[in-house]
Amino acid sequence: MEGKVLFSKYELEKLLGEGNFGKVYKAKNLTTLEIVAIKMINKDEVKKHGMIEQVKKEIQVMSHVKHPNIIELKEVMATKTKIYLVLEYVGGGDLYTKIVENGKFDENLARKIFQQLIIALDFCHYHGVCHRDLKLENVLMDSNGEDLKICDFGLATFLGGHEQNYDFEDVLLYTACGAIAYMAPEIIRGDRYDGKKCDIWSCGVILYTLLVGYPPFQDESRTRMLWKIRVGKFDFPLGFSKEVEDLIKKILVPNPSERIVMLDIMQHPWFTKGLNRSCENDYSNLFCSSPISSFNAFDFVSSMGSGLDLSGLFESTHKRKLSSLFVSKCSTKEVVKKVEIMAKELKYEARKEKESRVVLRGEVGRRGRLVVVVEVFRVSSEVNIIEFTKRVGDSIEYLKFMEEEVRPAMKDVVWKWQGEWSIVKKNSGGNVISFPKWKWC
Ligand code: ATP
Ligand code: MG
Repeated sequence: MEGKVLFSKYELEKLLGEGNFGKVYKAKNLTTLEIVAIKMINKDEVKKHGMIEQVKKEIQVMSHVKHPNIIELKEVMATKTKIYLVLEYVGGGDLYTKIVENGKFDENLARKIFQQLIIALDFCHYHGVCHRDLKLENVLMDSNGEDLKICDFGLATFLGGHEQNYDFEDVLLYTACGAIAYMAPEIIRGDRYDGKKCDIWSCGVILYTLLVGYPPFQDESRTRMLWKIRVGKFDFPLGFSKEVEDLIKKILVPNPSERIVMLDIMQHPWFTKGLNRSCENDYSNLFCSSPISSFNAFDFVSSMGSGLDLSGLFESTHKRKLSSLFVSKCSTKEVVKKVEIMAKELKYEARKEKESRVVLRGEVGRRGRLVVVVEVFRVSSEVNIIEFTKRVGDSIEYLKFMEEEVRPAMKDVVWKWQGEWSIVKKNSGGNVISFPKWKWC
């Protein structure tokens, strides 16, 4: 693959890593000379394992969370057979390789890594995202050897706001990935679980491994290893500071309701030592982009169009466009029905393009007919986001239509309108982005 040029834009360099559904290559953007990492996902493999939804979720989650300690997803491209995630490149290797090559970390460096891990994870949880696959291999270090980036949101999910049932397939997947060592006891027990608490458990396993050089729960017999995790049986070798021992003991608690929560970890005396307060999460300076952008890309990612370059679409969604959003707790079917009833009353023609998309056409106006696309995006088991976008027609007529007709007509299915839940900010590139004020969970 080395030297191969993708989409006349990226030249592939060396192989960085290999995962379940494809490979990750270092690559160079031939125009900007920027070095990136390209994760290639084989569509057939993904389909064979019924994981297409999960890949969509990976893209959705990664485009949703932007944080200095989380790998940035720069663009998504696809061909008939592959999906390409263009990621920020991180040059220092993953923590697993570091431990294998150099052994355990000293306590101060372990603390610095753990602080960043917790701060990034807290950001994810705040925005309703659970990683669900935190392990040494998925934590990368910058070339300075001190700054951390979380990668691989391939198992991540948006929180539905409630405890979730672990699917059998999830367990199989974890087993296949060999991540049992990081798996929380409630998952192993097959209990209902809270993704945030499972992530915290995995961070405890990571911290222990960084300090000791091997994981807390291991055994030649898989059954005994699972038993050790279930009952939380592990030992501290000599030489641990009492403070970190106390913190790990509070994290690796088998009963999730007795396990330490994020806020208490962040206030623990071992954690706070040397912490530069400015690097803690100031959520107002970071942003969580609107999930809509990724959803638009999804349709194309999952479509089998050949040689399709999604980059334009993906990026253009960050630009200002005439659209309005609202959040609904009603099902897709209920929302679409309501849109159709509204159209009938307003004498708009309504054409359903698919189960979640309706195109509305009005009377001829100042610039021809007003054509508005209504699209419903499922973001969790309970929440839908509905986007109205002007496709054709006069902008003033569109705004009037939204304000005077749509708002009153849709009020029964609306939970929150866009203006009530987002503040508009400009990011460093001057593009307008929205920052949800409310939590997903
Ligand atoms: P999945 O578990 O969803 O199959 P995966 O394990 O195939 O995912 P990743 O964990 O995202 O894929 O990547 C595999 C490896 O590639 C990582 O462990 C890391 O070594 C390397 N890698 C991934 N992303 C980057 C990046 N942005 N910069 C440098 N190296 C990376
Ligand atoms: Mg991985």
